[in-house]
Amino acid sequence: MASKFISERNLKFLLHEVFDVGTLTQYDYYKEYDGKMLDMVLKAAMELATGLLWPICQEMDQNPPELVGDQIKVHSSVRKLLEECGTGGWLGDDIPFEWGGQQLPQMIGMGTRFIFCAANYSAAAYTGLTTGAARLILNFGKEDLKKTYLPNMLSGKWQGTMALTEPEAGSSLADITTMAEPTDHGYYKIKGQKIFISAGDHDGADNVIHLMLAKIKGAPAGVKGISLFVVPKKRIDEKGQLVSNDVVTSGVFHKLGYRGCPIAQLSMGDSDNCRGYLVGEPHQGLLLMFQMMNEARIGVGAGAAAIASAAYYAALDYTKTRLQGRKLSTKDPTLPQIPLIEHPDVKRMLLFQRSVIEGALSLLMQAAKYADLAIVLTGEEKEKNELLLDLLTPVAKSYPSEMGILSVSQGVQCLGGSGYCDDYPLEQYYRDARIHPIHEGTTGIQGLTLLGRNVTMKGGKAYKLYLEREGKHGAVRG
Ligand SMILES: Cc1cc2nc3c(=O)[nH]c(=O)nc-3n(C[C@H](O)[C@H](O)[C@H](O)COP(=O)(O)OP(=O)(O)OC[C@H]3O[C@@H](n4cnc5c(N)ncnc54)[C@H](O)[C@@H]3O)c2cc1C
Repeated sequence: MASKFISERNLKFLLHEVFDVGTLTQYDYYKEYDGKMLDMVLKAAMELATGLLWPICQEMDQNPPELVGDQIKVHSSVRKLLEECGTGGWLGDDIPFEWGGQQLPQMIGMGTRFIFCAANYSAAAYTGLTTGAARLILNFGKEDLKKTYLPNMLSGKWQGTMALTEPEAGSSLADITTMAEPTDHGYYKIKGQKIFISAGDHDGADNVIHLMLAKIKGAPAGVKGISLFVVPKKRIDEKGQLVSNDVVTSGVFHKLGYRGCPIAQLSMGDSDNCRGYLVGEPHQGLLLMFQMMNEARIGVGAGAAAIASAAYYAALDYTKTRLQGRKLSTKDPTLPQIPLIEHPDVKRMLLFQRSVIEGALSLLMQAAKYADLAIVLTGEEKEKNELLLDLLTPVAKSYPSEMGILSVSQGVQCLGGSGYCDDYPLEQYYRDARIHPIHEGTTGIQGLTLLGRNVTMKGGKAYKLYLEREGKHGAVRG
């Protein structure tokens, strides 16, 4: 195992020197914090990552989830992880204080996500999904939904998911067929199937809360007919007991990487007894889900940069100790061999990785800074930051995802044959990294979003703003 998975020094340099995270504390919303406290949060995240996530990274990969009966069994540490993240406040890091969250800046959330994902990408996925789902309920759910679900989700007792994909509707969400039939009892009856749902079922949590897209009977065709529902695996009955909500786990997929976290196939309403609770207005589902998807997209970028970082440090360690060959200028075979890192081509491969990681993280921090400014500013300045965040999101997802694979590949290359074997962690990182251009919208779909929607939205306002604000700096800066 390598000696480290990220550079704390570089992370703090980006946060403080480049993006000036401390200036946010001048705003009321972040006034409980100062620069030192923010560093303490990073330190605590490092401790959790080093103590709990990092040691089981390989073990989780080698013992993937299994469907036993009708439940998916995962690594025994997942329960402890969710509980510790709940009690430590990590599941509500950017959730407002009034809901028991930490109300931390998004930039710090980006930093802690980077740390957790570098230590163990699969483990970090469980927590990120719960936070994203909870935030959707918080922002758009009715009071009773918030009261029922948020405390249990933010404490780590209940898992959250985003349930969009169906066998016939992946990139094209307009074609989902999961149906929601209104009843006179304040809930909808849900019927349909979902596939590939991350953390969609597992025994590390007492319940799983799906933020699910479905169409209300008689809704308009296409994306304009999609609504958003909370569909729990178990619902609370009249006596306050958790009972089955007719959400059946019909399969678990066996995948290339990211093996510590299951992706489930779910079947809803086989016994005509699956209840869903509407979030927001009917037919506004995709718009609302976009909030979670956009956060998740930036989260995917962070995961990609993080895995590249862990792979880089594993490669760096190896190249410092493995002796092979001699300097170009030395022909004498009686001289001792030199460490790999002294070969210019190996140095080039290491530097390539460093530049991808630092560049990607900087891009992600910029996106997080736009999100922070959109929270604390008002009026036109708020709108500008929202537009810039919207514009940058597909890039912040795709660049780290695509370049992360190339970066990890160079990490594998640094180890030669050993990079290809499971005695070293590079082969796992290479497999883990491959998911990022696929989930949360493929790179092709991000391209369509960037050029087909974001560049042209509001008469090109976001793009013009970007050129105006960032173009003149010649670099991405906050
Ligand atoms: C490990 C993993 C975790 C996942 N987690 C979740 C989750 O938690 N929740 C969830 O809802 N889903 C999840 N998914 C599903 C994931 O989001 C989809 O797999 C992804 O959006 C692509 O959909 P698809 O697989 O149907 O591929 P398709 O949509 O069939 O796409 C196949 C290829 O065709 C291209 N393509 C498709 N349409 C177009 C077009 N209009 N123009 C140009 N090119 C196009 C795509 O870019 C892609 O390269 C997960 C998937 C995996 C593998």
